[in-house]
Amino acid sequence: MSKYIFVTGGVVSSVGKGITVASIGTILKSRQISVTAQKLDPYLNVDPGTMSPYQHGEVFVTQDGAETDLDLGNYERFIDVNLTTESSVTSGQIYSHVIAKERRGDFLGGTIQVVPHVTSEIKDRFKKLAEKSKADVVIIEVGGTVGDIEGLPFLEAARQMRNEVGRDNILYVHVTLLPYLNSTKELKTKPTQHSVNELRRIGIQPDIIVCRSDYPISEEIRNKISLFCDVERKAVIPLTTVSTIYQVPLVLEEEGLGELIINKMKLKPQPPDLSQWQELVKLIKTPREPVKIALVGKYVELQDAYFSVREALQHAILYHSRDLELVWVPSETLENDGDDSVLRTVQGIIVPGGFGIRGIEGMVRAANYARENKIPYLGLCLGMHVMVIEFGRYALGSKEANSTEFNADTPYPVIDFLPDQKGQKIKGGTMRLGNYPCKLVDGSRAAKAYGQSLIEERHRHRYEFNNEYRERLEKAGMVYSGLSPDGRLVEVCEVADHPWMLACQFHPEFGSRPGHPHPLFRDFIGAAKDILREGAQPPLPLSSQY
Ligand code: GLN
Repeated sequence: MSKYIFVTGGVVSSVGKGITVASIGTILKSRQISVTAQKLDPYLNVDPGTMSPYQHGEVFVTQDGAETDLDLGNYERFIDVNLTTESSVTSGQIYSHVIAKERRGDFLGGTIQVVPHVTSEIKDRFKKLAEKSKADVVIIEVGGTVGDIEGLPFLEAARQMRNEVGRDNILYVHVTLLPYLNSTKELKTKPTQHSVNELRRIGIQPDIIVCRSDYPISEEIRNKISLFCDVERKAVIPLTTVSTIYQVPLVLEEEGLGELIINKMKLKPQPPDLSQWQELVKLIKTPREPVKIALVGKYVELQDAYFSVREALQHAILYHSRDLELVWVPSETLENDGDDSVLRTVQGIIVPGGFGIRGIEGMVRAANYARENKIPYLGLCLGMHVMVIEFGRYALGSKEANSTEFNADTPYPVIDFLPDQKGQKIKGGTMRLGNYPCKLVDGSRAAKAYGQSLIEERHRHRYEFNNEYRERLEKAGMVYSGLSPDGRLVEVCEVADHPWMLACQFHPEFGSRPGHPHPLFRDFIGAAKDILREGAQPPLPLSSQY
């Protein structure tokens, strides 16, 4: 039977609850204890798929096609598991499910209430994931902050679980922030006390409190939290801000969190082995020569919108023992002859995913720059559409080549709906989502990168390469290096006469892991790292002559 760890958050949001969940997973996994994770999101959207990246950051897609919160990406990267739909639960899903059951008459005329009907539905989700994953420990992050109205049913369900599975099989971890007062130069524990009180009022006594702070946490503060919040002294775990998220498991381990969880939950572990993480952090902290990459996107003001892309670049950079100098370029600034001087300084250009017309012409300009100046280019989903539009304009000799997403009346719809998709109107749940197979063409850059001919990658899009233009673009030098097994869909394409210009219809960034960079990111950085740009100097050969 699986055991459960519930992780709640106090005081403010964005204190790093997701990274704490992911790190607890790492610590347990390093002891050969199998883990999985689940995120409970209190909002009423059924999934974050239709939310703006500005509101919600990146939408992370699981292999089985769920559109989820970006925290799931961190769980996958830290725990190195591929999660499924069951790992993402929102209030919207729960309520719509309960109401659908009521409409069907499943409750036989009963009055439907938050307790027990909604809470039972929530508990079913916990148990379903436990059953499906067969993990020793299911770690569940309760989204939002304790005290939020919307989060109450989730907390109530978490509370009820204690009696169902027994005290040894459940653990409550509360992550809080200790604010620093500049005037008195001290960390304050009162907000933590209040949020623990709030939890207790709901019936949950935390077993462990993880204290986030930008400043060192003294013994005195730990004692105080232990006393006022009624938590063992060793169960007050300080987590001061570190320079890389990949250090968090190491910090928590050092503070004894691993042992504490093992003892409290009576788990049977192997000795911990975090050497891979130690090496990773050591490498991150070693000075390395930078590679300058431009990320040309439409949501760059909120960098969380590209969370997995940035992480995948990091993994690839570390593989090459280099440092990432990432320049965030808002694509709109490149439009209407805007200043493109930044492109002249970068060694690679990446155009990530996105929706809607805003900023598209700026991305097309970046792709044009990459093609004409032979700068490595990686296009991800929308980034492939952009590359095809740019190449289409060149190959067809018309500025009007476009995707019907951006110009429904273009005479050259190089990207379009497939004939069987036409007429779709609903926005939620109408995309091609999750893993689809793709056959790679021998000798292509894509095949070289993957080192295999059949791959599966995660998708999230509506529009496709328009097959009517395949031949004409091919004649001008486009290579279709990855196709769906039936040959109908273009999944990967490349520009032949170019050092490395490749784009894919899927999202490779979701599959990249620290220590195992995604092959396309790895080879993109591999090509970019040796490019010399304006102002850069090749090392001068040392000669005795001078
Ligand atoms: N907007 C494009 C489509 O719907 C690309 C989507 C994406 O980049 N994820 O097909």
